[in-house]
Amino acid sequence: MAGTRHLGIDLGATNLKWTVVGHDAGAWSVVAQDSVPTRTDGDPAGVPAAVVAQMTDVVRAAAATWGPLASVGIGVPGLYDPLAGSVRFLVNLPGPWAGHPVAAPISAATGLPVALINDARAFGLAELRLGAGRGAASMVGMTLGTGVGGVIAVDGRVHQGHDGTAGEIGHQVIDPDGPPCGCGSNGCLEAYARADRIAAACGTADVPEAVAAAQAGGARAIAGLAEIGRYLAVGIANMITVIAPDVVVIGGGVAQAGAPLFDPLMAELRRRVRMTSLDDVRIELAELGTWAGSIGAAVHGAERAGLA
Ligand SMILES: [Zn+2]
Repeated sequence: MAGTRHLGIDLGATNLKWTVVGHDAGAWSVVAQDSVPTRTDGDPAGVPAAVVAQMTDVVRAAAATWGPLASVGIGVPGLYDPLAGSVRFLVNLPGPWAGHPVAAPISAATGLPVALINDARAFGLAELRLGAGRGAASMVGMTLGTGVGGVIAVDGRVHQGHDGTAGEIGHQVIDPDGPPCGCGSNGCLEAYARADRIAAACGTADVPEAVAAAQAGGARAIAGLAEIGRYLAVGIANMITVIAPDVVVIGGGVAQAGAPLFDPLMAELRRRVRMTSLDDVRIELAELGTWAGSIGAAVHGAERAGLA
């Protein structure tokens, strides 16, 4: 086996997805991947310890079958302390996660370096190294799911800020008098373009139904996606104005909607991007699908350990 192997875990409320990536002479490849249901049943007070133990088991099992592993990265759905390797706040996972150590116990149990990264930044790092952003020096990424995840990359690296929170494109305010956002502010892009608001705008139960209805010619869904596309474009145009990226990568369920979303989105982008030429900014769909988070976590673990 040439090169080194690195494990990434995407900690989700429903599943732990994991990917082993290979790194050889500067090139990344996917070696193996799978998922297991996250252990969130039982007393919520015990969930953080149970999930950390479960992730330790995943590392050991992956090392036994696909190792030797050189590093581990873990994508978390929320905020974390990059120096302490502990979690500050997780979206959608039960239990007292604030201050709960994650990196240190897994590292102690496995002997491997372990680094945390926000799951949206992991998505972006994966697309930057192995996906639609390959070779780009600067990138803006957006993952449209339950919320609106964001990432920016400059000079070939995902910009983390001092605490890993940089790139929260979904929490830029696009209307100072807009609806409340889960973050405590109001008028954030996410307050318009998160999954439940997309479904409401389209008059459907969820986003897959909204996409199907629009593609079948449903007038309300088409109008709803046009409205969402316009809001997304305002947020993306702001980022293009600030970053002037080589590429914008858009992922997540509603990104599959095609023309009903992207025609109005592109029209609004052309209206809003005035400082740089939109012709020089590639607008791409994400390529790595639901595995991007675990792939990016693996890349982050390797880079943080100085191994890539
Ligand atoms: Zn917000």
